[in-house]
Amino acid sequence: CGIVGYVGQRPASPSSRPVDVALQGLARLEYRGYDSAGVAVLDGSEVRVAKAKGKLKNLRGVLEGQDVPTSAVAIGHTRWATHGAPTDENAHPHLGGKDDELALVHNGIIENFAALRTSLEADGYTFRSETDSEAAAHLVAREMQRTGDLTLALRAAAVQLEGAFTLLAIHRDQPDRVVAARRNSPLVVGLGEGENYLGSDVAAFVDNTREALEIGQDQVVTVTADDVAVTDFEGTEVTEKKQYTIAWD
Ligand code: GLU
Repeated sequence: CGIVGYVGQRPASPSSRPVDVALQGLARLEYRGYDSAGVAVLDGSEVRVAKAKGKLKNLRGVLEGQDVPTSAVAIGHTRWATHGAPTDENAHPHLGGKDDELALVHNGIIENFAALRTSLEADGYTFRSETDSEAAAHLVAREMQRTGDLTLALRAAAVQLEGAFTLLAIHRDQPDRVVAARRNSPLVVGLGEGENYLGSDVAAFVDNTREALEIGQDQVVTVTADDVAVTDFEGTEVTEKKQYTIAWD
């Protein structure tokens, strides 16, 4: 339903850690409605996920008292369940890979998730939820295993997915970036100074920047603290970018 992403290196003061930027974005997206919420960050070579059924305050409760690392990246999600009941396990982000090396959030519906799940389970990937989205998490992880690059992995996964999706992924082997792909579901990048944002709509980051870049249909974007690179699913660079200043009161 709602998606946020952050890449940058904020001072490690309480309330301005990447995880807090993600929570702030999720609060801004609450107006869309949701049944559960979650965030993921990197802690050295570990992917850390916190998620909870119900309101954001439940998620904040899970995070309270936890020593949340000052990761350079954070992704967050508010879920409106389509596949699988609203439970803690079905909430996003979903871990992907045989060693939980990746986390992914998804908006939309993946129509061919059942066939993908069968193929991934046959390959030894273990599923922990009833969602369509977890198939995308393991699929990107499998492609990452093959290609060694998260952008290539997102592209390779995107062409195998049918339906509607905005996907954001973080991976422990490339801790400086969030990579995203979209088809039939919106995605906007917020441009900051030494930091960048992603959102399913500009509300996700409007408190932090007014400069936005709209990501087009069937495109992949690789976002680091100081670079935003956009390609189509075949890997051709997108040069005609829709950048604009957000008017907001
Ligand atoms: N289809 C996914 C699920 O049920 C994503 C739903 C959403 O867009 O929030 O988990």
